Amino acid sequence: MRQQDCIFCKIAAKEVPAKIIYEDEHVVAFPDINPAAPVHVLVVPKRHIPHLCETCADDIPLLGHIMTVIPKVAAELGLAEDGFRTVVNTKDNGGQTVYHIHWHILGGRFMSWPPG
Ligand code: 5GP
Repeated sequence: MRQQDCIFCKIAAKEVPAKIIYEDEHVVAFPDINPAAPVHVLVVPKRHIPHLCETCADDIPLLGHIMTVIPKVAAELGLAEDGFRTVVNTKDNGGQTVYHIHWHILGGRFMSWPPG
């Protein structure tokens, strides 16, 4: 199901341009428009889910699938050897700005901890 006026729904539907670097039946991945690291890619389910708090048991296959897509995309981006960070920001205090669930893949430099 897609949501009107959701930028990630529009990207997944190819209504807004993005350089799609991975796509399958359930997921697209594309570079973040405002990269926070030398490599910064977003993995986005095609189905509109606002955030992690709105997932349910029916989403387990999709969520599991995304967990297998992330290392595949990271490897294609050359991040497998040195590693990378995966981030899911959730709602305001989590720093979420686009309310269509997505996984950030950040790499190409050392990531400090804790996040700001
Ligand atoms: P959040 O802050 O919700 O965790 O992450 C949303 C991310 O989406 C941000 O890093 C932001 O730069 C990225 N973003 C927002 N709009 C667009 C867009 O139209 N195209 C792309 N490629 N990235 C976007």
